[in-house]
Amino acid sequence: MSFNATAAPLTPESLYAHTDFSQLSFLEQQWAAWYLWIGNPIIATGLMSFLLHEIVYFGRSVPWIIIDAIPYFRQWKLQPNKIPTKEEQWECTKQVLFSHFTIELPAIWLFHPMAENLGMATWQVPLPDFRAMLPQLAIFFIFEDMFHYFAHQALHTGALYKHIHKIHHKYSAPFGLAAEYAHPAEVFILGTGTIAGPILYCYFARDLHIFTVYVWITLRLFQAIDAHSGYDFPWSLQHIVPFWSGAEHHDFHHMAFTNNFSTSFRWCDRLFGTDTKYREYRKRIDAAKKAMKGASEAEKKEMERKMMDEVEKEGIRAEAEAEGSLPKTVKVQ
Ligand SMILES: [Zn+2]
Ligand SMILES: [Zn+2]
Repeated sequence: MSFNATAAPLTPESLYAHTDFSQLSFLEQQWAAWYLWIGNPIIATGLMSFLLHEIVYFGRSVPWIIIDAIPYFRQWKLQPNKIPTKEEQWECTKQVLFSHFTIELPAIWLFHPMAENLGMATWQVPLPDFRAMLPQLAIFFIFEDMFHYFAHQALHTGALYKHIHKIHHKYSAPFGLAAEYAHPAEVFILGTGTIAGPILYCYFARDLHIFTVYVWITLRLFQAIDAHSGYDFPWSLQHIVPFWSGAEHHDFHHMAFTNNFSTSFRWCDRLFGTDTKYREYRKRIDAAKKAMKGASEAEKKEMERKMMDEVEKEGIRAEAEAEGSLPKTVKVQ
């Protein structure tokens, strides 16, 4: 199915001629109404994709900004002595918006023609049902996790780290907004893991609706933002699904600079032995807490803070090693 971008505005007769609107759900009716309203499928898909990304990204980040502003939540903050300042959050927002407009906007705009060439459904209704989407979403999650694991490790070496990934590691205690705080080249490289899954799936299976891709992108953004939130609540997903990475796993990557390279799952790091320092650190904390049974909460927190400082100092050394230089200044954030 292909469209001429300069064709006359679309009408129900030309686009949905054989569609019985009374059989569609409310969401499906709105979906069709959007394409008819915009009148050009390339613009309709491009605009919807960009808006979806912005609304989900900032919509999911705002609750974390509010949580950071409320001291009550500090009891669940993974690095409680490092609360992002307003200036840091604003600086981060500007960089993220710069990437969104320079890298993601053009990439998103090219998505519709590429998707149609691969036979991906876009304007078509009805939308796929949950049972059809579930296995596709599982494949995208697993593919992205593995792609990210290897690409992220490559970004920790020499010039790739020094010139690209170092920006993302500016914050040794990340916060939600910092999920996409990265060099534009990194946004492109790691974004490939998110987009290549659906593209390859569509190429081979020839059966994918862009609506499923939107559900995937939404879940992936939630995963990335939550992993950078800096909070580990008793009700966080990783306590319910033990192989889910969550904030506790990725926060350690930022604090220690090493270990825990994957995104959604803990499998790759366990399988390839890149979580040994992380697991040893967790064991030491648990053992120290047990040994301090009679101690006050404040004393336990102080012990944990000291251990974190040690890990972070080691991380600064590891970072200098990865860059091939000695640290000139000591990181304060
Ligand atoms: Zn990293
Ligand atoms: Zn990160």
